[in-house]
Amino acid sequence: MSAATTASARSSKGIETEGRSPEELRELVSHWGAELELAPAEDIIEWAAATFGARFCVTSSMGDAVLAHLASTVVPGIDVVFLDTGYHFVETMGTRDAVASTLPVNLMTITPAQSVAEQDTTYGTDLFRTDPDLCCKLRKVQPLADALTAYDAWATGLRRAETHNRVIAPVIGWDAKKGKVKVSPLARWSDEQVQRYITDNGVLVNPLMYDGYPSIGCAPCTRRVAPGEDARSGRWAGTTKTECGIHS
Ligand code: SF4
Repeated sequence: MSAATTASARSSKGIETEGRSPEELRELVSHWGAELELAPAEDIIEWAAATFGARFCVTSSMGDAVLAHLASTVVPGIDVVFLDTGYHFVETMGTRDAVASTLPVNLMTITPAQSVAEQDTTYGTDLFRTDPDLCCKLRKVQPLADALTAYDAWATGLRRAETHNRVIAPVIGWDAKKGKVKVSPLARWSDEQVQRYITDNGVLVNPLMYDGYPSIGCAPCTRRVAPGEDARSGRWAGTTKTECGIHS
């Protein structure tokens, strides 16, 4: 099953499943967080799928398809949520389309409430320049929060090796802002492990990754980095902003 769809407030599988309470979810985190800290990524995904069923999804920014590929081998047909901000590189959209057509996943493209043109009319042209935090809130944070209402747990591709400020990403954590369990199966993976998985499994990679963009976000806020530079230094370069707010 491979289809690009638009997220709604219900599970993409058409199943209205009752979610657990925040207390129950936090209890799961405190019990399983330590238990799974050293577990292989496949086992972490397997646990999440067994625990949350249709109320578990994977998110992908389409820098590469490692997490989507790995999750699809454990749970064929799993929901993979992609956030289309309206500002992505064409290569990122192409990677999204390739993932949808080649992996056994249910790709869900979610979009902000306003198009870029509507946002320009409401807030002025190029909000990413005048108020990038608000732009990220409108185009990333809020749409993802809305999409995640259909789920109790979401998986991210966060890795501790990426930058120092991601050092604390737990494998199983409590996302207090969203009231969800946040699963980071790749948290302990090194750059070498990621590359090995890509090579061994022929995983799709955004072509920009091989063109000086080791971390890919929206086109207006992402620049090439020089060899040896911090991978995320090309994001919001020249500003103090380092994260979009999805993970804070
Ligand atoms: S990364 Fe830039 S363009 Fe994308 S939502 Fe944030 S501020 Fe807007």
